[in-house]
Amino acid sequence: MSRDQSFSSRVFSSALSQLAAYRAPAPRPDAVKLDAMENPYALPDELRDAWLAHLRRVDFNRYPDASAACLKHALLQRFPMPDGWDVLLGNGSDEIIQMLCMAVARPGAAVMAPDPSFVMYRHLAVACQLRFCPVPLTANFELDADGFVAAIRQERPPLIFLAQPNNPTGNLFDPAALRAICAAATGLVVIDEAYIAFAGGDSLAIAQEFDNVVLMRTLSKWGLAGLRLGFLQGPAELLAELDKLRLPYNVNVLTQASVEFALQHGSVFDDQVELLCEQRGLLAEALAALPGTQVFPSAANFLLVRQSAAQAAQVLQALSEADVLIKNLDGGHPALAGCLRPSVGTPAENERLLDVWQNVVNNGV
Ligand code: PMP
Repeated sequence: MSRDQSFSSRVFSSALSQLAAYRAPAPRPDAVKLDAMENPYALPDELRDAWLAHLRRVDFNRYPDASAACLKHALLQRFPMPDGWDVLLGNGSDEIIQMLCMAVARPGAAVMAPDPSFVMYRHLAVACQLRFCPVPLTANFELDADGFVAAIRQERPPLIFLAQPNNPTGNLFDPAALRAICAAATGLVVIDEAYIAFAGGDSLAIAQEFDNVVLMRTLSKWGLAGLRLGFLQGPAELLAELDKLRLPYNVNVLTQASVEFALQHGSVFDDQVELLCEQRGLLAEALAALPGTQVFPSAANFLLVRQSAAQAAQVLQALSEADVLIKNLDGGHPALAGCLRPSVGTPAENERLLDVWQNVVNNGV
């Protein structure tokens, strides 16, 4: 049989035709990479040697420990949780979002999230044939608690995502608004703390006030993006249901061993986070001083910066020519017109970013 033009529409779910594959730009080895909210610091040399020595004991002819017991133990030292809670590991928190969407998928069910927010909520909800119901943020990117509660009453979503701080806007939502949404929700509320290391505090207290709220976390932004480890913490009986969807051995042996190692040396990453928070303040101040440039408050490791769409395009072009990569948000969402999103880099990287940006804005080059 040969494939005709209608093959894909006959064979694949109709949801797929609504989606575009997630495309990360091809790596450019010499570029300053400020487009993916990574920690820019590599492991210091002496620690790299110790890590490689640690990996010598890893055998990859065997499957990983399916329960990742040692890793979970190490993780819980750093992220303690109340009695009756458990932890579910994912190959990045992206995989956890996928498990959550699969778990609630049934005809007509809705997934709700503020808008704009992290693109994978919509992508994976649609892929699982769920209705994605975005609730607009206010003009300042705050949660519209009343609007959200009204939307919950109308749609009764089994799953709600709230990123705290939010991506791509970078701000922390008002805890009172989070509580109002958790209280109104008839389904599961996932507070996504991907960037919480850069914000201070967390939403554990909020999660504990409700029996339908779980916390989603990741080590990606802290400094382990390449290892792919995300996790969910919440009431054990909820996580036991989700665990049925977890693929066996979803966290590989190298990740298990490397994350355990990184957690033993957590202060190295904590110090880097502190440096990045300092740099965030300096970069925000310098960008905000440029004419026609608005910098939104950020509690994450990136900044949301708005300019005229024409100027944003010029800045992006000049940065790309100078081998500085940032994320363009203009055109992706009406609320993000003219917006660019650089992650915070090392002092030298930030200087290079600023130099190019200043040149464009001040001299049009
Ligand atoms: N949540 C949010 C809000 C994010 O911005 C991201 C990554 N950009 C993720 C989750 C996924 O992170 P990871 O899969 O690396 O854990």
